[in-house]
Amino acid sequence: MMKSNTLSYDDVLLVPQYSDIRSRSEIDLSSNLGKNLVLNTPILSSPMDTISESDMAVALDNCGGAAVVHRYNTMEEQANLVIDATSINEEIVIGAAIGITEDYLKRAILLHQSGVDFLCLDVAHGHHVLMKEALMCLRKELGDEIHLMAGNVATLEGINDLSDWGADSVRCNIGGGSICSTRVQTGHGIPGLQTIIECAKTDRDVKIIADGGIKNSGDAVKALAAGADAVMVGSLLAGTDETPGSIIQDKSGHKWKIYRGMASKEAQINWRGKYSSHEGVSATVPYRGPVSEILNDIERGIRSGFSYSGARNLTELHSKASFIEQTTSGIAESRTHISSRSW
Ligand code: IMP
Repeated sequence: MMKSNTLSYDDVLLVPQYSDIRSRSEIDLSSNLGKNLVLNTPILSSPMDTISESDMAVALDNCGGAAVVHRYNTMEEQANLVIDATSINEEIVIGAAIGITEDYLKRAILLHQSGVDFLCLDVAHGHHVLMKEALMCLRKELGDEIHLMAGNVATLEGINDLSDWGADSVRCNIGGGSICSTRVQTGHGIPGLQTIIECAKTDRDVKIIADGGIKNSGDAVKALAAGADAVMVGSLLAGTDETPGSIIQDKSGHKWKIYRGMASKEAQINWRGKYSSHEGVSATVPYRGPVSEILNDIERGIRSGFSYSGARNLTELHSKASFIEQTTSGIAESRTHISSRSW
């Protein structure tokens, strides 16, 4: 069977629309993900060991989003990362990742007791029988009140099943992350925007997290306009002060930090002492200072994007947004291109 629609973020643009929004401060970027999980800005940080620990959680919360604290540590260490962030701001909105095998239930209970606002069942291929068993078990053990995020999936069947199994929100996109090599290694995946368009056809009461491959605030606006309720980002926040890991200085004085896929050889060897199928890479990215200015820029870009679609909030963006496909010349024109001009 061959499916032919394969749009990714760069393949489309949003059509600018009449706007009666006089000031961008009239725009409400909040997103209600259900079960008391409300983000004032629809941005989540990825549960990766080079992105989300206590400092990133505090920074995300300050800008109205939330971090998902990674699970590549002992459950006590992870719980302490949550508690550390909560001692800086008691009102923080914070999530934490868990797996779906071994000690995941114990970890989930400890994180729940440590005050997380949501748990994220974090696996590469989430449309899986082990996900079904884990979601059902967590619902039974932790009750209906806790927000369960799960993923990742790439299809409408995937998001529907995870919702039926108990997920409140689902991370959508397989193989689109900047450090991801899943499509190269396994031949599987669906371009990121197409995934959101497909998943947005769901008739379930479930929220969509557009995860991976968001390169700029424009991509975030496109994901939200296509039906996402929040975006999850890794590389956009990489290399900043708030990411775990130290700054590396090279001989010419340039500063760098590591950003790596959690399925990269390097990450697997660190956390498991060995590696199996590796579906990610490890990269050295330029050091970029504090994350707050970057987050503010993304937030301002999203706000401006809402205004171009004449949308005062996410519901209006979902209903008003109109996409057009662009050609390769269109893509070239859409990027800043002053340096490519010959005089
Ligand atoms: P980015 O924002 O494009 O850098 O993508 C971040 C996302 O990539 C994460 O939220 C995960 O969904 C995904 N991801 C993280 N590590 C890996 C990996 O090793 N292989 C494939 N995908 C990954």
